[in-house]
Amino acid sequence: MTNTQGLIVKAQSGFFWVNTGEDIIVCQLRGKLKQGRAQGDIAAIGDKVDITILDDGSGTVDSVHERNQLIARLDPRPGGVYQQVLLANPDQALFVFACANPTPRLRMLDRFLVIAEKQNIPAVIVANKTDTVENPQAIFGMYESIGYRVIYTSAKTGTGLDTLRSQLQNKLNAFAGPSGVGKSSLLNALQPGLGLAVNEISSAMKKGRHTTVTRQLFAIDGGGYVADTPGWKSLGLWDTEPEEIDAYFPELRGLVENCQFSDCTHQHEPGCAVLTALKEGKIFPERYESFVRLRSGKE
Ligand code: GDP
Ligand code: ZN
Repeated sequence: MTNTQGLIVKAQSGFFWVNTGEDIIVCQLRGKLKQGRAQGDIAAIGDKVDITILDDGSGTVDSVHERNQLIARLDPRPGGVYQQVLLANPDQALFVFACANPTPRLRMLDRFLVIAEKQNIPAVIVANKTDTVENPQAIFGMYESIGYRVIYTSAKTGTGLDTLRSQLQNKLNAFAGPSGVGKSSLLNALQPGLGLAVNEISSAMKKGRHTTVTRQLFAIDGGGYVADTPGWKSLGLWDTEPEEIDAYFPELRGLVENCQFSDCTHQHEPGCAVLTALKEGKIFPERYESFVRLRSGKE
């Protein structure tokens, strides 16, 4: 028996593949960890764990290190709600949208950005298929002026791939975006085989709850991992109060303290700094629209 530490790189049906740096050990949770009624996944991909390697080469997960961050969604179960961990300890989330084909749904992007802000996960926008439009900045430039990093790519022509590669390097990356925007193509262009593997898992997960769910980290040459996290659309803002939402819009954050009323909803109040900024063209009407929508709990 040997005690060591490692990173969970794959999880399936109660089994965890732990990369110790030397080996990958297939582990199960130690009985002690499973005691009590769990509020959520005890272990997940991205978790750092202490394990014991048994004489037969299998292992047990003895303890899970505290998570810095996590991407989770609620899974309603009889008798309560359960937190499904899609990825533990993400360093950043990359939201991939296409400039065209499909038409970028920026209100969906705004929702993803709000979830990332809430979870404290740095977000990077990848604007793919730049080869299909004249001026990609006309679509995504507003996010740069708000302060987000936008990487302009084309998996077809190779534009921006080096920038994307260095953004991913040595980090635990969550990759998300609507289907058809080119996520698999981008990953394949960066490293042949990577996108194909991710795509297989995405389609297995779409088939629903009767399919065994495998979650996996894909290693990037030179260091770092990519995890496909297809759940963002359903990652509701479950534990979010309407009053918090303005804090998750970087361009509103600094304004709200100047509103006349401390409980300002920024929709009709006199002396509202957000409405003034909107009138003066200092914030984007589209982003304001997303704010109102998310605050009212709609989609
Ligand atoms: P995913 O569902 O996000 O993984 O998207 P895919 O990688 O499967 O790509 C969807 C379609 O878009 C495929 O037909 C790709 O060939 C095409 N595609 C991907 N990236 C680009 C790009 O940068 N430019 C163009 N013109 N087509 C692309
Ligand atoms: Zn206000």
